Amino acid sequence: MSAKKHPHILLAENHAGTASYCDTCHMVELEIGAISLRVDENTLALLGRLLRDADYRLNVYQNERQKFIQDLPSDLRFH
Ligand SMILES: [Zn+2]
Repeated sequence: MSAKKHPHILLAENHAGTASYCDTCHMVELEIGAISLRVDENTLALLGRLLRDADYRLNVYQNERQKFIQDLPSDLRFH
């Protein structure tokens, strides 16, 4: 039987997709484009941290990388 038959509670929604909760299965369903992913509460929390950490570190990396490029003496730049 499809999990779609159970009523879902919409938890969050943005341009990336939606997250809804099935109170019958106790599972969170993530719909991101054509991808549908069912995870439990603990995995949702871990996924949230994973994405936040990745986003944070990507920003740090991009900022540091920009600074590094700016700090290079001009004769060391590759143009
Ligand atoms: Zn369900």
